[in-house]
Amino acid sequence: MAAPVGGEGLQSCGVDLNNRDVAGYSQQTRVATTERTGSICAPASGSAPTLTDTNNTSAAPWIVDFADGSREMRDLLGGKGANVAEMTRVLGAERVPGGFTITTAACSAYMNGDGSFPQGLEQQVAQALERLEVQAGKRLGDAADPLLVSVRSGARESMPGMLDTVLNLGLNDETVAGLARRSSNERFAWDSYRRFVQMFGNVVLGVAGERFEQAIAASKAARGVSLDTELDAEALRELTYEFQRFYDFPADPREQLSHAIRAVFDSWQGERAIAYRRINRIPDDWGTAVNIQQMVFGNLGESSGSGVAFSRDELTGAPEPSGDFLPNAQGEDVVSGVRTPRDIVELRSWLPDVHEQLMEILGTLERHYGDMQDTEFTVQDGRLYMLQTRNAKRPAQAAVRFAVDAVAEGLLEREQAIATIDPSTLDALLHPTFDPRADYAVVATGVAASPGAAKGEIVLSAAAAVQAAAEGREVILVRSFTEADDVAGFHAAKGILTSEGGKASHAALVARGMGRPAVTGASAVEVDLAAGEVRIGEHVLAAGERIAIDGSLGKITLEDVPLVEPQVSGQFQTVLGWCDELRSLGVRANADTPADVEKGIELGAEGVGLCRTEHMFLGERQPLMAAVIMAEDDAARASAIEQLRPLQESDFEQILRALDGRPVTVRLLDPPLHEFLPHPADLPEGSPARKRVEQLQESNPMLGTRGVRLGLLFPELYEMQVRALFAAAARTPGARIEVMVPLVAYERELELTRSLIERVASEHAHDDYLIGTMIELPRACFQADQIARDADFFSFGTNDLTQTALGFSRDDIEGRVLARYIDVKILDRSPFETLDTPGVGQMVRMGAWLGRKTKPELKLGVCGEHGGDPDSIDFLHHSGIDSSPALHIAYRSHVWQPRRRLSAAAGRTCSAHQSLARLACRRLAAGVKRCCSTRPDRPRKGSARLRRCSRADARRMRYLE
Ligand code: ADP
Ligand code: MG
Ligand code: MG
Repeated sequence: MAAPVGGEGLQSCGVDLNNRDVAGYSQQTRVATTERTGSICAPASGSAPTLTDTNNTSAAPWIVDFADGSREMRDLLGGKGANVAEMTRVLGAERVPGGFTITTAACSAYMNGDGSFPQGLEQQVAQALERLEVQAGKRLGDAADPLLVSVRSGARESMPGMLDTVLNLGLNDETVAGLARRSSNERFAWDSYRRFVQMFGNVVLGVAGERFEQAIAASKAARGVSLDTELDAEALRELTYEFQRFYDFPADPREQLSHAIRAVFDSWQGERAIAYRRINRIPDDWGTAVNIQQMVFGNLGESSGSGVAFSRDELTGAPEPSGDFLPNAQGEDVVSGVRTPRDIVELRSWLPDVHEQLMEILGTLERHYGDMQDTEFTVQDGRLYMLQTRNAKRPAQAAVRFAVDAVAEGLLEREQAIATIDPSTLDALLHPTFDPRADYAVVATGVAASPGAAKGEIVLSAAAAVQAAAEGREVILVRSFTEADDVAGFHAAKGILTSEGGKASHAALVARGMGRPAVTGASAVEVDLAAGEVRIGEHVLAAGERIAIDGSLGKITLEDVPLVEPQVSGQFQTVLGWCDELRSLGVRANADTPADVEKGIELGAEGVGLCRTEHMFLGERQPLMAAVIMAEDDAARASAIEQLRPLQESDFEQILRALDGRPVTVRLLDPPLHEFLPHPADLPEGSPARKRVEQLQESNPMLGTRGVRLGLLFPELYEMQVRALFAAAARTPGARIEVMVPLVAYERELELTRSLIERVASEHAHDDYLIGTMIELPRACFQADQIARDADFFSFGTNDLTQTALGFSRDDIEGRVLARYIDVKILDRSPFETLDTPGVGQMVRMGAWLGRKTKPELKLGVCGEHGGDPDSIDFLHHSGIDSSPALHIAYRSHVWQPRRRLSAAAGRTCSAHQSLARLACRRLAAGVKRCCSTRPDRPRKGSARLRRCSRADARRMRYLE
């Protein structure tokens, strides 16, 4: 890696910082790197040096026994394997059935090979099995007392699309008799065998599940019973044999095992898994681990059962364990919803000892992991076994509650508690959501693409959305996918639903940019434009029927779910307060009006980092501004400007009052000329006005007369702005102003503008001010040492810097190019959402370093949407920028939207709501980034973010995972 340009700031933070730094890089370059080394799973590519090497070494260890693993080995053992191993250490071997994990490396080697198991694997499985047989005192395939195992997949991050767990492997016509004798329970043995033959056929060999279900239904009907549990041993035996005729059932347990392992490996390459990885940016070459574990039986009778338990309430985070269990059931019964589970509190009266042990174990695990746990357990004949534990996924409010309680209980330090909250989930706390207490049927789920919930009538086209909005109806735009032409419909709709695409699809990107809730990639939703209807499972919905989506949860319902408005709870305030104490980064708001300023302060902003002045010239004032630009002579221009000045002055005065002594960075006028001019077609042909406008037209306004260039061509404009600002400041006690000159490329541009500002400032009795510039052009980064001579501060405008460094026009790229680029893995996310660290990020570092070389006390800040993105904040924090306590990150919405939007929304292109959400999120992220070194093991990316709406639904989702 190239030597970081960040200078002392970087070194002072030592090793840990460098690690973070590397992580920041690999996040963005990962895709490309994978491609280069050829270790991606395409069998044809074949040339993965490391993997081929290991493939050739017969001694490569492909297996780790549970007793030897730990949670640090997540990459190799997968999440499930690592946690089972950790539990074995923490709770003791008696609590966790024995077993071993085939590593993710074995899966990678398999994928890169010719379709056979990597060398040495089969032998090592045989050896590991022998060790397990010794530990269990039973042997696989032993007709007298067979060992049975489960085969469970588990990647680094839990992922839908992976192979479902196969239970009771090892049964055949001989071993089933042994099992029956040992358990003295004929029915249990045949129930287990029946389940195995069914699961093996369905899960491993892909025989359609309905065939088994139909056979079971027929058997029940023939016997006049309605529940599976009412089928006796004889019926189950018949079913087992019937199932075996559906496919070629391998009786040899070792053959069964080898089939199952292969099926787990293959599932990594399944369509669903690949699609999920693409959406969630999980590299293809991670591979999955396979866990082979001795079976314990929850279906052995009335003192057996299985269930799931959370160390705290899974919905609210309240400090009482929650969960469900089913007596006389194997694990999958609980999650499959076949039978209705009982609440965990009933366990106390059913098996009091087990209840007590479970509560104790939940506490132990929670203390050990320092996080709320989500566990699976089985009771066999009154004996409790733990089968899985993981940090519980939870809704944002539960996460916040846990953090606060954990500190109060002394379980965690503040830094650690903050690190248990995923900043990106907090968006959900600041948007309306489905009421978490409401019970409603989820008809489909998709990708939670843009936070917030919305209800409305279904419309199928942008035009219909626009028309409905004009009639005052609330609508949800439902499409297979969206394109640039649909954007008008995004404005008009309350929410967006698509059946295709992920978090980086056009629909997702545009919806997030506009602050509209969106669910994308809901594959169960079928949009039939010809029929004018939407089908979701058995529901056929005509346009005009109502639907509701929650873009924070990715859920879709047809019911009229109550929405809850966001409120900043006391606990949330507490957590934000901790962040404020811990972070070294400053946080300011992006605000153009007194109302925005007040909201920002309410949410903890220390000032305003970007006050844009464009909107002060739009609306009613636009003709005045147009007159300034179009003036034929100086006198006409001067008079137009004189009319604008008092208006501008009162704008500033109100903003400064609202700030009440906090600092504000005011950006001098920045937009391209044409933003203020009438459209030539609207003017009479041949008129002088039209001629003038035509003269002023630019073919690429974005790269034309804007920013400081505008100020140099029309110095009267900047002079008027500065005069208005200083006059307002002089009248407002305690005002602290920072005048910011936009779009500087050449040091002389700033030198000239600075002298103008100083001259005007000297006319006023206000001297608490700074003059600085936005660094938003590549040249400015390279010449930052020169530019710093005339600057008291730099604010990196990372949005324009991204546009100019990459040559991307944001509005054009996000709508068209980006989704494709993500598809073919040129990018893994929008560079406008997360800073392109290897390119743009390096420029920021260089600018910061050069600027401070000239002027060590130079204040550094960032204004741009990246200031709301946790990964970007992390990078900036480590870019030398954080060493100054004066850093501010200001959030800025899209810079140049088409003129319609700019003028329509009085210059504000994003709703206040959205920027406020980001503000709070950013505040937390800044706190978290300070602390993450204390939790190096915390996975940085939440993959399958499972948020729950009701317990039953949660269970169903778990099952799907
Ligand atoms: P998932 O990732 O879907 O939770 P699991 O591998 O955890 O899949 O297993 C599915 C179900 O099978 C769970 O309820 C689990 O408790 C149960 N199970 C897995 N292994 C065993 C075992 N060795 N003995 C008993 N039940 C098991
Ligand atoms: Mg699973
Ligand atoms: Mg599980």
